[in-house]
Amino acid sequence: MISLCALASGSNGNCYYIGNEHEAVLIDAGIPARRIITRMKVKGLLPARVRAIFVSHEHADHASGARVIARRLNIPVYVTQSTYLAMYANHKPDSPRFFKPGQEITLGSFVVHTFFKNHDAAEPCSFCVDHKGIRVGIFTDMGSPSEHVITHLGQCHALFLETNYDEKMLWEGSYPQVLKQRIASDHGHLSNDQAFELLKNYAGEQLKAVFLSHLSAENNRPELASGRFEELSARYNIYLTSRQEPGEVVRIQEEVIK
Ligand SMILES: [Zn+2]
Ligand SMILES: [Zn+2]
Repeated sequence: MISLCALASGSNGNCYYIGNEHEAVLIDAGIPARRIITRMKVKGLLPARVRAIFVSHEHADHASGARVIARRLNIPVYVTQSTYLAMYANHKPDSPRFFKPGQEITLGSFVVHTFFKNHDAAEPCSFCVDHKGIRVGIFTDMGSPSEHVITHLGQCHALFLETNYDEKMLWEGSYPQVLKQRIASDHGHLSNDQAFELLKNYAGEQLKAVFLSHLSAENNRPELASGRFEELSARYNIYLTSRQEPGEVVRIQEEVIK
């Protein structure tokens, strides 16, 4: 059985937990380390189980806590070399373990697949985490889905999927035009509508759980994101993640998948 939890999700910080009874990995560490640890404990997830952290790209909402949490838990941080070089000095882990997009990394009974995504960062990556036949995708911070993302998405049983903004809210909102264009570009973020289309067109039959992730504070509202996915809620369990608190811990049994 695996447990999934968005310990933090949104444009103010991201950290995703994927674990079994003995070990776990974190994808991104974009909130302070002490908060990651507190939130894990609140949710009954043991920090001592975490074997490694993967940093998807250098933006602070994904990388700011990486150095400290790695020290606190005495675990490695996996990152690409270009991402590492682009990170703020005080976010850089002490001893990074470099991977290249496309590489697969085995950690106990988990296999982490890494692949390139379209985002305005040095070498942005997405991940799929496999555990005994269950595949979990973490797909946030992408302006448009890359071929790798589409292929992997079709194989997932659970998915953290970016629903960053509502298109009307973005274009009618107070952000400067240049920032609006950046968010909506192919290297920005996925809107509720884009995420919906992606799921509708490419998700496989085996998909069970979808976490609507990385919501913008300015340009989205939880009810708009979940409302957009209403018509798929008979097919998948759809969960909202929160910008302020850890989300629900969702458990998936291997038997359910077979
Ligand atoms: Zn982000
Ligand atoms: Zn980003």
